[in-house]
Amino acid sequence: MSEKSFGELDVVGLNLQAVFDLAQLADDIVARLRRIAGDLAPYRQLILIGNAGPALWRAVDIARLKTDDPIDEFSARAVAGWFSRHHGDAARMQLYPGAAAVDLQALGALAGWHHPSPFKVGINDRFGTWFAYRVAMLADSRIPPTRPWASASPCTACTTLPCIEACPAKALSSETFSLDACIEYRRSDGSRCSATCISRLQCPVGQTHRYDEAQIRHGYANSLRMIEKYAAGRGNR
Ligand code: SF4
Ligand code: SF4
Repeated sequence: MSEKSFGELDVVGLNLQAVFDLAQLADDIVARLRRIAGDLAPYRQLILIGNAGPALWRAVDIARLKTDDPIDEFSARAVAGWFSRHHGDAARMQLYPGAAAVDLQALGALAGWHHPSPFKVGINDRFGTWFAYRVAMLADSRIPPTRPWASASPCTACTTLPCIEACPAKALSSETFSLDACIEYRRSDGSRCSATCISRLQCPVGQTHRYDEAQIRHGYANSLRMIEKYAAGRGNR
């Protein structure tokens, strides 16, 4: 199987793919995978699939899936179909989306996709912050491993730092990101961040790959819902 077979994922916007041989991964990463998946013996590879730009959202919109999480559902189905067409019934275990917490940013860093930004969303010099992780899985596949991107963090060379200035909660103003300040502002009446992140919009990197407004609203409204659910569970409203 060649990397060309990823073309059918590319056309639906699942256009980031990284493949790692488990035997080549660092011990700490393998240990983390083992904690999630148990026995790794049935698998040879870790496959990470992501999206960059708005194409995935548009494909999801066309599919009109009746589910609360159409992006996850669409991505998982597309990757499962792609895998079975190319690998038949080879062993496969989907780690993400899933119940266990997978450190996706660590895997993204391994692929060269991820550098930290001041507002904690990953960034790279090709797509800015307009990319995301969609499926991570173990598989008994023999795909040629991909080379990590050699990319520098755009934040290192950013002198004007418009993201920091733009945050209405001043959550980025000190050395470390204040998640508490961000959440408090997002939950406040009249918040400008109830369905977006003003700082993210202000970052000039990768603007040609910016998500559609509907996708931005969907993603941030979902995350605010989860924040409210968590707060309600703690009696904090
Ligand atoms: S505005 Fe500058 S510092 Fe902020 S995320 Fe973009 S590149 Fe990084
Ligand atoms: S969501 Fe709003 S408050 Fe939070 S970091 Fe982004 S701009 Fe700041």
